[in-house]
Amino acid sequence: MSDATDFDYTLDERQIAMLDAMGIRVFQGEISDQKEPFARMESAQNAIEKVANTIPSKPVVAAPVIPQAAAAPAPTRPQATAITLTPKPEGIERMGWAELAATVKDCKACGLCQSRKNTVFGVGAPPALEGEAPQVDWLIVGEAPGENEDIQGEPFVGQAGKLLDNMLAAMKVSKEEAGKPKGLKRTENVYIANVLKCRPPANRNPSPEEVAMCEPYLVRQIELLKPKLILAMGRFAITTLTGSNEPVGKLRGRVHTAADPRITAPIIVTYHPAYLLRNLPDKAKAWADLVLAMQTMKTIKVL
Ligand code: SF4
Repeated sequence: MSDATDFDYTLDERQIAMLDAMGIRVFQGEISDQKEPFARMESAQNAIEKVANTIPSKPVVAAPVIPQAAAAPAPTRPQATAITLTPKPEGIERMGWAELAATVKDCKACGLCQSRKNTVFGVGAPPALEGEAPQVDWLIVGEAPGENEDIQGEPFVGQAGKLLDNMLAAMKVSKEEAGKPKGLKRTENVYIANVLKCRPPANRNPSPEEVAMCEPYLVRQIELLKPKLILAMGRFAITTLTGSNEPVGKLRGRVHTAADPRITAPIIVTYHPAYLLRNLPDKAKAWADLVLAMQTMKTIKVL
């Protein structure tokens, strides 16, 4: 709060004229001692108070009474449904396609089953016989389902999926059809699967234990699909299939053999489409990888 000496008692000519017109006399002489400013201040203050007293005061409105809400119960966290993990199913290496798909659907061998909405087994060309594995020349292996894949139960959907479809369509691998060379298409002549069949929460990297637990499903898929060539996309797919921890940039540009002897198809490695969406200049390198894959496939078919 200000004390009296802080008060600015100076009245300008207009204020004095206004007070004078209202019949209020204000001291206007020379300030000759220390009492004068206060006397003058009091006079001015009195004048202002008189004016203020003529202003009708606002009626006091009682503050509305807000009824007290009943005491809300303390928020409780939604209870996560407890899922008991079960041992990895026996005999994966002997399963047929339908049994393998059903086993993955019910798998609770690692903690990723706790948060998944759907398992993501794979998508691709229709099989010749219902319940059997499609026979494809080309297999694309990605890393793990993301949010959209988890919701839809299909690998490579959303923006990364669109980019993959465009990359595949650009690979003119078949003889001309209706005057145009035919590219790859997920529903016709290729199969697409991930290393992990369940989504890691918040798209975190899968742990080595989770990869080890899920890998037998992929190996069995590859045995049954019998692809002529595998295109591994992204670091986890490449490490799982080739056994190398080197960065993608160092592994590109050559043909690899699988670390697991049950996988006999050659492997070409490239960037994951989700990475390419964030690193557009590397699309040219990815295209070079696809060209290498097409050349390798030509060689395989001639042999
Ligand atoms: S990620 Fe693989 S091992 Fe883990 S629960 Fe899913 S299917 Fe089973």
